[in-house]
Amino acid sequence: MNRPQGICMAHRDRLRDPAYRLGIGNDLHRLAPGRQLILGGVRIPFEKGPVGHSDGDALAHAICDALLGAAALGDIGRHFPDTSPKWKNASSLLFLRHVRRLLDQAGYAILNIDSTIGLERPKVAPHIPRMQKKLAATLGLRPHQVSIKAKTGEGVDAVGRGEAVRADAIALIERSAKS
Ligand code: MG
Repeated sequence: MNRPQGICMAHRDRLRDPAYRLGIGNDLHRLAPGRQLILGGVRIPFEKGPVGHSDGDALAHAICDALLGAAALGDIGRHFPDTSPKWKNASSLLFLRHVRRLLDQAGYAILNIDSTIGLERPKVAPHIPRMQKKLAATLGLRPHQVSIKAKTGEGVDAVGRGEAVRADAIALIERSAKS
């Protein structure tokens, strides 16, 4: 009954401005012939690739949204509008680098990312270690902080019919000590 008021206030402040924050993101791109298939910044040889204004890297886009969401900084469409000629055919690693800077400026550090790619063909698994290295380097992380999983669409929905590539991501960020 007689709790010290200072502790209650500190607890309330922590709830209002938590040290740890989660974000989720997902993305889907239609696949068409004549486009390069790029996932996690890695080019995967295949006869089709994502249709998009940028390079259509669904994994990088899902991670951007997860990071922006964790920091409540909006979404990828707000920061990189697909009407801007600046981003036409741009490498999505540029988006990730920019998002990392936004988080830095807002006083957040990235703790870890987990993600899942949905693609019917080709097999993604052999390329995952390279994607982890590339994404980690872009975000200033170690590869083990960036988890990437892959699954098919079991022959159903747009992924399963080979019409689309999908990615889902979740990110955990922490308020950095300096903020
Ligand atoms: Mg996208």
